[in-house]
Amino acid sequence: MAELQAGTPEESAFLAELIDARMLIGSGVPGLLGRGERFERIRAAVDALITRAGADEEPERMAFPPLIPRRQLEQIGYLKSFPHLAGSVFSFEGDEAAAAEQERKASLHQDWSEHQSQTDLVLTPAACYPVYPAIAARGPLPPEGVVVDAGGAYVFRHEPSGDPARLQMFHQREMVRIGAPEAVLDWRARWRDRAVELLRSIGLDARFDVANDPFFGRSGRMLARSQRAQELKFEVLVPIASPQPTAVASFNYHQEHFAEVHGLTIAASDGQPASAAHTACLGFGLERISLALLRAHGLELDRWPAEVRERLELT
Ligand code: ZN
Repeated sequence: MAELQAGTPEESAFLAELIDARMLIGSGVPGLLGRGERFERIRAAVDALITRAGADEEPERMAFPPLIPRRQLEQIGYLKSFPHLAGSVFSFEGDEAAAAEQERKASLHQDWSEHQSQTDLVLTPAACYPVYPAIAARGPLPPEGVVVDAGGAYVFRHEPSGDPARLQMFHQREMVRIGAPEAVLDWRARWRDRAVELLRSIGLDARFDVANDPFFGRSGRMLARSQRAQELKFEVLVPIASPQPTAVASFNYHQEHFAEVHGLTIAASDGQPASAAHTACLGFGLERISLALLRAHGLELDRWPAEVRERLELT
């Protein structure tokens, strides 16, 4: 079982305040929260703000369910890097006797997992994952590559926590750039600056920093160090409820990783053979940005600064 990280007193107090105000809806399971009407208005406004910020790139829009094929998770090495965060879908495939036994155990809240078997599906851990095979299936990309807006998809991370900013399922607003290395790196740098500006424009105390993913185990610590040394990951941090600022956006450069897994290539302009594409993605945590706004401006939307409301088109 994953270790439950109890919230700090500040995190627990903020969560209680949000539930009291019907911004969030508790489920009894840490990190699994519903959202009230006003919270959803904020989240949709943040989503739309990001859409407007990226409109000049005319990204191709795609939308996916919060599930990916199990095979894909296996191919990209997710279970090596983040076995502790993955969630798989299991389902029942037995006879009537087994169903009755499963129901008996379940009614007593006992372990009924022996009646379940693994399906072809896993929960999507990052909203960009379905994009790479979808683009690769088209064959070599034109030399300029492609920008994809993967929407605000639900993603799953198995990390139950009492911090309202650490959910087990949340919306990750992802954008993906696939192309030549320089184009991909330029795009990521541009978005990193744009994201800091965007978040400051809605009254958040945003700054960026070099970061690493929460890789698993001892070899994971080495991966994390190398990721930092190569500056493959940036994050934008803002204060929410934790003593430390919380990451609300991340900018990841994968080099040729997804090209190798999915066979993503770019056509050369001069008739030369196609070369491996590089990829980068950026993800905004929509719930986290909404929480940061509530933290910064209070729970009464009507009392938020006029310029913030205007920027978010919250009327
Ligand atoms: Zn991504």
